[in-house]
Amino acid sequence: MKVLVIGSDGMSPILVEKWMEKLPTLRKIKKEGILGKTIPPIPAQTPVAWTTFMTGVNPGKHGIFSFTTRKIGTYKRKINTPDKIKTKTLWKILSEHGKKVGVINVPMARTENLNGFIIPGFLAKREGIPYPSRVREKLQKKFKIKRFIGDVETKVLQEVKEEPDKFFERVNEITDMQADISLFLLEEEKWDFFMTVFMGTDRIQHFFWKNVDENHPEYERNEFTFKVEKYYQKMDKIISEFLKNIDLEETLFIFLSDHGFCPVHSEVLVNCLLYKQGFAKGGTEGNIDDENSIAVAYEYGDIWLNLEGREPNGKVQAKKYNNIVQKIKEHLEKIEVDGQKIVKHVVTRDVYWGPYVNDAPDLIILFNPGWQASRSKAKKYKDGKCIIRSERWSGGHDGTHDPKDVPGILALLGSNVSSVLKTEVNLYDLAPTVLKVLEVSVPSYIDGKPIWHCDTNFTT
Ligand SMILES: [Zn+2]
Repeated sequence: MKVLVIGSDGMSPILVEKWMEKLPTLRKIKKEGILGKTIPPIPAQTPVAWTTFMTGVNPGKHGIFSFTTRKIGTYKRKINTPDKIKTKTLWKILSEHGKKVGVINVPMARTENLNGFIIPGFLAKREGIPYPSRVREKLQKKFKIKRFIGDVETKVLQEVKEEPDKFFERVNEITDMQADISLFLLEEEKWDFFMTVFMGTDRIQHFFWKNVDENHPEYERNEFTFKVEKYYQKMDKIISEFLKNIDLEETLFIFLSDHGFCPVHSEVLVNCLLYKQGFAKGGTEGNIDDENSIAVAYEYGDIWLNLEGREPNGKVQAKKYNNIVQKIKEHLEKIEVDGQKIVKHVVTRDVYWGPYVNDAPDLIILFNPGWQASRSKAKKYKDGKCIIRSERWSGGHDGTHDPKDVPGILALLGSNVSSVLKTEVNLYDLAPTVLKVLEVSVPSYIDGKPIWHCDTNFTT
C-alpha cells in the first residue's frame, strides 16, 4: 500500500458542506469514501496542530504548545521552531522502516535526513529549500526556481486591507505553482508516503471569514464571498488532479485540514482584565510589568504565573499556585459583554500528559466564537477598553478557541475506506493510521489509534 496526503491549512467543514454542490471531487469522496472532521489539539493553532499530526502525540509529549512560548526561567518569549519538537516525525519513522517518503510544505516540518525528500514548511528555518540537493536541482531545471514558495509573503499579508485583489491573486498564483510542483514530484520521485500542504485557505479566511459565514455578526456577501468560494473550487480541482495520478486500489488518499475557523469580531486585552483584578501590575508605556505581576497573559491567550523558584522574580508561592489558577479561571469565565460570555473555558495543564507538561502555559483561555486574544496589544494593561473591535481579523481559530468550535475537514478515499468506523478523528490518530496502512508497527508512546477498527483486516 501507499499513502497520499493533501493538506489545506484551515479548510472549514462548514464551508465544504455549504458549497458541496460546487465541489464535485469532495462530493464524490463523500459518496464513495468518508467525509468527516479532524479535531485539533488545544490550542488549535497551526504549529501545534501539524506537529500533533506528524508525531501522533499530544503537546505534552511533542513539546509545542503555541506559536510562541515563555523561555523557562525568564520573562522572555521565543518563537517555536521545528527543532523544538521532542518526538520523531511520521516521515522519520517511515524512513527508518525503509519506506520512501516525499514531504512538501507541511508547517513545522524541518530539513532532516530521510529516505526520500522534504521541502520544509511554515516556521522552519530552511522553509522552501528542498532537501536533498537532487530535488533542488530538479526543480531548478524544470521550474527555474531556487526556492519553493508555499505561502504568501508577509508584505502581501500586511497590505491585504488596502490591496485585497493583489492578495487573492498572489494566493491563487502560489497555489497553482504548488500544485504543479507537487504533481511533478509525485510523478518524478519514488514514494510510499507523499504529502503536500497548501496554506491558502488559512490566509484567506483570517481576513474574509465575515464574507462567508452567515453566523458572523458582520456578515456581508460581496465579491470576496465569491473569491473564497472560487478558492475552494480550486482546491477541489487540485484534489481531482492528484486522484487522476494514483491507483486507489493500492493507495489510501487522505485530504485534511489542521483546524477550521470561527467568527472573530472583537479582540480581548487579557492583561487589561488581569490588571483590573489585581493579578497583573502596570509598568511603563501602558505595558504590564511581568516581573512584578502575579500573572500575565501573552498574545495567544496563554497565561503564566510568576512562580517562586521558576521565574527569576517569582511572587507566587508554590502552595498558592492552585488557588490563584482557580481565581483567574473563575474571574475570566464569568466576564460578559452584552449578556454574552466571552470565555468558554479556561483550561490548565491538566489537558496534557507526557514529559513536557511543565513547559505548557499555566492557563489557556478558550474564547467563545467571536472573541480572541489581542496580539498587537497583548502587552497593554490600559489602552482605553479591555475589549475592542477587531479591525484586522474577521475569522480565527488560534486566539484561542475550543477545538470543537473549529474542527478541520477530513476526506478519505481508497479500497478499504468503507470500513472506517470513526468520522471525527483526532489529529494524533492520523500518524498511527498511516503507519498501520504501510505495515509499520506503531511505537508504543504514540497517543493516537488507527482510525480503522483494530480487528479489521484492511492491509493486504
Ligand atoms: Zn493552520
